[in-house]
Amino acid sequence: MADFFNPTEEHKQLREMVRSFAEREVAPQAEEHDRAERFNVDLFRRLGSELGLLGVTVPLEFGGSGMDATAAVIVHEELAAADPGFCLAYLAHSMLFVNNLAVNGNDDQRQRILPGACDGTLIGGMCMSEPNAGTDVLAMGTVAREDGDHFVLDGQKMWITNGAISDSELGDVFLVYAKQEERSSRALSLFLVEKGTPGFSLGQKIHNKLGMRASTTAELVFDGVRVPKENLVSAPGGAVKSMMRNLAIERVTLAAMSLGIARRSIEIMNDYARDRAAFGQPLNRFGQIQRHIAESYAEYMAGRAYTYQVASQLSLDAFGNRLDSDGVKLYCSTMGKNVADRAIQVLGGYGYVGEYQVERLWRDAKLLEIGGGTIEAHHKNMTRDLSGLDKLL
Ligand SMILES: Cc1cc2nc3c(=O)[nH]c(=O)nc-3n(C[C@H](O)[C@H](O)[C@H](O)COP(=O)(O)OP(=O)(O)OC[C@H]3O[C@@H](n4cnc5c(N)ncnc54)[C@H](O)[C@@H]3O)c2cc1C
Repeated sequence: MADFFNPTEEHKQLREMVRSFAEREVAPQAEEHDRAERFNVDLFRRLGSELGLLGVTVPLEFGGSGMDATAAVIVHEELAAADPGFCLAYLAHSMLFVNNLAVNGNDDQRQRILPGACDGTLIGGMCMSEPNAGTDVLAMGTVAREDGDHFVLDGQKMWITNGAISDSELGDVFLVYAKQEERSSRALSLFLVEKGTPGFSLGQKIHNKLGMRASTTAELVFDGVRVPKENLVSAPGGAVKSMMRNLAIERVTLAAMSLGIARRSIEIMNDYARDRAAFGQPLNRFGQIQRHIAESYAEYMAGRAYTYQVASQLSLDAFGNRLDSDGVKLYCSTMGKNVADRAIQVLGGYGYVGEYQVERLWRDAKLLEIGGGTIEAHHKNMTRDLSGLDKLL
């Protein structure tokens, strides 16, 4: 039967399918790939070729599954409960690249790129951040200059998930934001840049991340990269609008990842507190432990209700609801981190080592307060949007 978190039978079946795959195939490889800082490319491709998840929000005609924002939230929640690092690679591909191109690209671009990106042949990412510009995105230094029937891109991008798929190999295809200064100092354009284009290279794969180590993060270099004009995505100089459209689903699915982390952490601390005894009774008889478990559950459910409510209202090709897409990420990212932290506390010494997963969940959870907008950026955006309202609904 459908319910608030599975509003249709299709959503329910999707959740069951992803949960079963995640428990069987994704969870067992998580610890090994975290330790080795390695992206499981073969497993990733199966999300496309076997499950149709890589293009979950893409129309059927371009090789996708044609589902909505709620479906995307379900997939992220389930994959993150098994392995947040693997799920981050999925998010960068399916939301930041695939959904972005499906919404903002033209039919030629969609027909050329999306079928391969939906079946897992191509692995994609999105390049916005730079070594010297993150939150202050309009300060980016990557420039695009028109030259006949090409644009020439120069600059560096930093922290790009799926930028590399191994220590030395670039990802396949990227959406790259660059300044078009001949238009205006605030004009950004969006380009499709493919591996193999001369001047486009892997600067470095970033090692020793705190968490999300099963996803790759890279610096990418653009040195006189000639991009044909057919690869300009949406209107020249108009990419801030494309960026805003995609940020809403990015933030809601990042919030869904925090829900997956919180759920798994609660399951682990609940089991442990039931089974472990101290002073002649199970840990879950102690008030302080009860507080960790009960508050975690209530906060998780509050975040879950907020996220599914916002997802149900989110139209993928409209501007979305910045106040609440920032709001769910602000709330859920810190909630997920705090819940994983409490899980470590409930497990004591066992929580501090890899075997019980919660130390990895805690390390992975921290990224969600930074990537896709820092919590301070959400404070800034939300306060600006709230300042225009006299009354709340
Ligand atoms: C593992 C990982 C994966 C990532 N994947 C991608 C990706 O695929 N594509 C991509 O483009 N980017 C990606 N990022 C980059 C990420 O989005 C940025 O790190 C993030 O936006 C913050 O930018 P920054 O690191 O430059 O920090 P800064 O913007 O320099 O911020 C530093 C600190 O200053 C604060 N701050 C900045 N401005 C303000 C302000 N106005 N008010 C209050 N506080 C402020 C910030 O909140 C933060 O606490 C990734 C990052 C990581 C770590």
